Amino acid sequence: MEIVESILKENPCYKKGRKIAVKGLMLHSVGCAQPSAEVFVDKWNRPEASRACVHAFIDGNTGKVYQTLPWNHRAWHGGGSSNDTHIGVEMCEPACIKYTGGASFTCPDRERAMAVVKRTYETAVELFAFLCREFALDPLADGVIVSHKEGHARGIASGHGDPDHLWKGLQSGYTMDGFRRDVRAAINASLQPEPV
Ligand SMILES: [Zn+2]
Repeated sequence: MEIVESILKENPCYKKGRKIAVKGLMLHSVGCAQPSAEVFVDKWNRPEASRACVHAFIDGNTGKVYQTLPWNHRAWHGGGSSNDTHIGVEMCEPACIKYTGGASFTCPDRERAMAVVKRTYETAVELFAFLCREFALDPLADGVIVSHKEGHARGIASGHGDPDHLWKGLQSGYTMDGFRRDVRAAINASLQPEPV
């Protein structure tokens, strides 16, 4: 996993400088057909980008992580109280999908879209495993790793359907329960001693 430091120092959220005690991790996807993390970094690193700010973007073309806030900085990613407790990470989305309203989309090239979705999923597993170790979080404990959609259902985030809508719409087979299990497995694998 490669982490590119790209702190959004011009974003008003960064300038607020508030810290949180990290209790969980929220997974998002960007909700538009843009695989490039650098596009978001460029757009959000401005004083007028006052609506949102997250901790990281995962690039859809390379799988690289662009860290956009210090991990314990209070971000504006979930709406609601999740901003006070959860790190927020955005997965970029395939260029070939076309939103038709809300969380609905069409995809003329599922294979191409799936390559991007698989890449961002696998990096998200690695990144969340790293963050669980960093902040001593149990990935399978209730409410620790949630999607934006699950956060809304729990009353701690605004009414979005990401990233579940993307995985479901592409019939990818990915689910949040599976994601949490994959994070657990990645942590376990990292704790194994190296073979001699
Ligand atoms: Zn979201």
